[in-house]
Amino acid sequence: MICLNCYNDTNFETKKEHETIVVRGEDIEIESEVTYCKNCNAKVWNEELDNNNLIKAYELYKKNHGLLTSSDIKFIRENYNISQSTFSRILGLGEKTITRYENGSIQDTAQNNLILLAKNINNFKVLFEKQKSILRPEEIAKIEEILSGREVKLLFNNQNATAYGIKDLFFGGFTYEEQQRQYEFKSAV
Ligand SMILES: [Zn+2]
Repeated sequence: MICLNCYNDTNFETKKEHETIVVRGEDIEIESEVTYCKNCNAKVWNEELDNNNLIKAYELYKKNHGLLTSSDIKFIRENYNISQSTFSRILGLGEKTITRYENGSIQDTAQNNLILLAKNINNFKVLFEKQKSILRPEEIAKIEEILSGREVKLLFNNQNATAYGIKDLFFGGFTYEEQQRQYEFKSAV
């Protein structure tokens, strides 16, 4: 890092300040972290911090518009224990799409709602079956194992899962046992 005003490259400080960032034509107010040169007081370009500030503004924009945040999307995907590319293809999106969303890009409402629906395991199963032909055999095997219930139970018992309310994510609000009973009932009729 270097101050382009006085060419100091060692003496910096980072301050928190209110900043307005324009996201899709809308003013988003965030508390950003900005680096200053301690010699001449000029603002210094700091790639990592500037990028974080931008992501913060994008996340806030998503929240304000009722869209899933990057971390929401990451959380949904990680519940299925699949890669960004696999999740993209199951959703019928371009290979890199989920990666972009998890890195901060803003999804449109249709894509947002698709991901939101995929949060429910029953919907996820429908999409998975539909997209199987474009998945690799090892991806299919891994997902089938998760969907078979054994892995789900495992995740369900996981401490994080409880903390994040995974019951709602996986079973649409039903417990695992309730879901099993419904499944058996449906299979019987
Ligand atoms: Zn300076």
